[in-house]
Amino acid sequence: KGVPSDQILLGNGSDEILDMICRVFFEPGKENMIINTPTFGMFKVLSAINAIECKEVQMTADFQLDVEAVKKNVDDNTKAVFICSPNNPTGNSMNEASVLELLKLNLLVIIDEAYIDFSTSASWLLRLKEFKNLVVSQTFSKAYGLAGIRLGACYAHTEIIDLLKKVKMPYN
Ligand SMILES: *Cc1c(COP(=O)(O)O)cnc(C)c1O
Repeated sequence: KGVPSDQILLGNGSDEILDMICRVFFEPGKENMIINTPTFGMFKVLSAINAIECKEVQMTADFQLDVEAVKKNVDDNTKAVFICSPNNPTGNSMNEASVLELLKLNLLVIIDEAYIDFSTSASWLLRLKEFKNLVVSQTFSKAYGLAGIRLGACYAHTEIIDLLKKVKMPYN
């Protein structure tokens, strides 16, 4: 993947990684996340399990990020925007320019790339160095057909990876 090992964290599937992000970066009952619907159902499930308010912003008619609507929903308690690209269930990738606009906000931007191996769009891993607030997650469950071994990976700045490592169970 061309990413230094101190910027990689492996998890029991990427679902575990997404859950760890919820546990580490949000104050339950107070802070909120923004998701772009329709999207991967686990984002909402994980927010509910972790008592994080989930603001659902409807995508545009062509299933792209509605950047203005996302910005309108950001408040003092918004910690992160979750993006799935290519998106489950719509199958399309998010425009680079709109993702870049969200990366400029003072928020964590989590890009779930579970389907990146099926896509002709470049992975955001290529631009990891440029953004301290970017988290990319990938999985062995889809293109590799290895859902049963439960292996996912997340890639981010070392400060983010170090925080996630503090809560990860040692032997799972
Ligand atoms: C399947 C899927 C995952 C999670 O897969 P794991 O088996 O937990 O790695 C994450 N995000 C999306 C969008 C998926 O479709």
